[in-house]
Amino acid sequence: MARVSADVLIVGAGAAGMYAAIAAARAGAAVMLVDKGQIGRGGATVMAQMTVAAALAEEEPDSVALHLEDTTKAGRGLCNEELAALVCSEGPKRIREMEEWGTRWARERGRIKQAIAPGHSVKRCCYVDFLNTGPAVAATLRRKITEFEKIRRISNLAVVEILARAGRAIGAIALDLPNDQFIAIDAPAVVLAAGGLTKLYARNSASANMGGEAYALALWAGAELVDMEFVQFFPIGHLAPRLVGMDPIMWDPFRYKLGGKLLNGQFEEFIDRYGSTDFGQYHATRDIAAYAILKEVEAGRGTPHGGAYLDFRHIPEKDLRAAFGPVIDRLLNNGIDLSRMPVEVGPMAHYHMGGIRVDVNMRTRIEGLYAAGEAVGGSNGANRLSGNAITEAFVFGERAGAAAADHANASSRRWDEELAQESNMRLDRFCHASDDNGSAPIVLQTELQQQMWDLAGPFRTGDKLSAALARIKEMKHNLEHLRIGAEQRFNLDVQDGFELRAMITIAETVVQAALSRTESRGAHQREDFPLTDYQLIKNQVLELRDGELLCRWAQPVRLDRSQLENPLVP
Ligand SMILES: Cc1cc2nc3c(=O)[nH]c(=O)nc-3n(C[C@H](O)[C@H](O)[C@H](O)COP(=O)(O)OP(=O)(O)OC[C@H]3O[C@@H](n4cnc5c(N)ncnc54)[C@H](O)[C@@H]3O)c2cc1C
Repeated sequence: MARVSADVLIVGAGAAGMYAAIAAARAGAAVMLVDKGQIGRGGATVMAQMTVAAALAEEEPDSVALHLEDTTKAGRGLCNEELAALVCSEGPKRIREMEEWGTRWARERGRIKQAIAPGHSVKRCCYVDFLNTGPAVAATLRRKITEFEKIRRISNLAVVEILARAGRAIGAIALDLPNDQFIAIDAPAVVLAAGGLTKLYARNSASANMGGEAYALALWAGAELVDMEFVQFFPIGHLAPRLVGMDPIMWDPFRYKLGGKLLNGQFEEFIDRYGSTDFGQYHATRDIAAYAILKEVEAGRGTPHGGAYLDFRHIPEKDLRAAFGPVIDRLLNNGIDLSRMPVEVGPMAHYHMGGIRVDVNMRTRIEGLYAAGEAVGGSNGANRLSGNAITEAFVFGERAGAAAADHANASSRRWDEELAQESNMRLDRFCHASDDNGSAPIVLQTELQQQMWDLAGPFRTGDKLSAALARIKEMKHNLEHLRIGAEQRFNLDVQDGFELRAMITIAETVVQAALSRTESRGAHQREDFPLTDYQLIKNQVLELRDGELLCRWAQPVRLDRSQLENPLVP
């Protein structure tokens, strides 16, 4: 097995990974930035088209304290307040730094434009005009990383195991996808920035690369996860007609601007049947809108693709064009004329609030192992405010990169060839021992996604979750009997097999945590426990012990608010 080395290995090159690479290189470390897709093009960052939240106070007075208050309120008592405070206090610095590096935030009369979004008390969300926020941010960071000779960038390299012994990370094993070969990476510091898990669900807004691998890599290495039950379901994801080359959840910004009627399959407004009003505006919160749509579908009043209609036909064409800008033409190219037809929308898995448990320097409990971006759990508690995720990717990326570089500069290498070879042999057996009677990994991935949607989706019950857990355990067993094709290059079965292994591990954490949380709170809604239980203002921490998944309750991390206006220091 070939071996390469770096001071800091960064796994995943979305906003968090690229920011981490820049921060680590600025601190003098030799960085290896790897991605299983293309650097800066593989995950959620490049797909995010809406807004980025930060208390810039460009449109109206705002403060870090107010942003934090809104964030913790949305998190329903479960935010790790130290992490949330970092997002709010360091966010403005990162947004302005991005502008210095070339991101053209929309401006008016010399000021950055900021929009209001549900849950924010003031206009706080900046954006790049007409749905270009994520692509613009990713392009800025892709350009910036090329300025550092110390950043080595490698695409098509999937990290499949973190090497850790005696509570300390020493590097990783990665699969070189084009050549179907393992590579050992010797690195005293590793940053997991491999994004979220929404690909676990049949209906999702995710890229193909968001199967929860960051969480699985951390868990297998001995780190802890937190609050895995809190998957955010976005109520009005695009279902039909088919869109080519456009973000599947693009409807939110237009609902902010224009309203838009939510109608069931019989063209009736229905939100008022579920304890809220909407009536062409945008009042219903995400959880109520999702609930209402799914209940209409259950009652046989859904649209042909199992959702609701979003209808802008009552809005004059000139107002539509002003709000949508060039996007109206991209929609027309997809055969969608909003002045004449509604679109079909429905809830889909969108973001993960849970994740890897870290401290304010993004350190896990494994020495030398850090996390950044959506891979980190806890800062958003039980529910995330829109716009906080990209800010979090910048802030946590920067902190993780700087801390990992400091760690690498201060520690000696402890490469362990025996550990690497053991891992190599185990991984090789896993991906090359094909069973002709088994299923192809992609078949099991699809089955798992459907199970997760049906049994552990937006509305859960103990019975459904128990059924999901039983099926996941069977699938875990079936991992030893995968049917793997014999291709020597770009073997998709091998790639899918490793993804499946991570997806099954992480599905179990989501379902186990959802079963234990016998209440409804934020994004976790139990139909058998519809009320919030004030005894459960606690986080759930998950770890592996002797291969068994253990869940325990922990008190949420609270902030010493006297530190608020000063960024927390290491
Ligand atoms: C459609 C969509 C729209 C969104 N809109 C917004 C918005 O408007 N505002 C907002 O704040 N948030 C939004 N979000 C959420 C936000 O985009 C993400 O939370 C954020 O971009 C995550 O950044 P990240 O760097 O942590 O992960 P990502 O950008 O997802 O990057 C992770 C990278 O890791 C790579 N990877 C995965 N596994 C491995 C492995 N094993 N080895 C190597 N590489 C690996 C992936 O290929 C990927 O490139 C949106 C999300 C989606 C999906």
